[in-house]
Amino acid sequence: MKTLGLIGGMSWESTAIYYRHINEITRKRRGGLHSAPLLVWSFDFAKVAERQHAGDWQGAADLMIEAARKLEDGGAEGLVICTNTMHRMAEEVQAATTVPLLHIADATAKAVVEAGVRRPILLATRFTMEQDFYKERLREKFGLDVVIPDEAGRAMVHRVIYEELCQGIVSESSKAAYLSEIERLKRENNADGVIMGCTEITMLIGQGDIDVPVFDTTLLHAISAVDFALA
Ligand code: GLU
Repeated sequence: MKTLGLIGGMSWESTAIYYRHINEITRKRRGGLHSAPLLVWSFDFAKVAERQHAGDWQGAADLMIEAARKLEDGGAEGLVICTNTMHRMAEEVQAATTVPLLHIADATAKAVVEAGVRRPILLATRFTMEQDFYKERLREKFGLDVVIPDEAGRAMVHRVIYEELCQGIVSESSKAAYLSEIERLKRENNADGVIMGCTEITMLIGQGDIDVPVFDTTLLHAISAVDFALA
């Protein structure tokens, strides 16, 4: 089994979920005492979030590249960026390293297409919902017609991610706000699925709460990482 390098800590709440998923999937597939050989680089997320919110994407990319190189030097044979947002610099990270980077949007889109969903709602950070790096990949590479919330909806979804989920806070009122946003977007846009396009959203809502297919990017990315490691 190949050694995975996780670029995590963004936030550590979701990196912990990745760690559990990757090991559980490995145990399911290989049995017994098998677990996944992996390295984790875990950032102080405050340092990263500061650059994101200042629009210092070059500074954020520099941090990511430095982490990727450390993991590669440590023996990682495949890289996993444990956040959707930081795939903004996926190409730069890939160009700076020689091991494959396993893209979260590709793992997600494959599952969306396989489920026959064409118009998924994308709930994510403001950066992922508003900038092109993620939506355009889903549109151009996979032909998906991505639906995003309006300004007020994006502000609410973004605020809950940074002020609550990334700080370990899971609240009933935010869950209700997410579910009513999903209902409205479904009604107004004929959306037929939901992409939880932020790796902490799985802490708040899930398939049991929603009557269209839900795509958990944390889980789908973890599955694709194990597929790669075992191939
Ligand atoms: N983990 C989140 C994501 O998947 C948000 C935190 C970040 O900005 O990296 O986008």
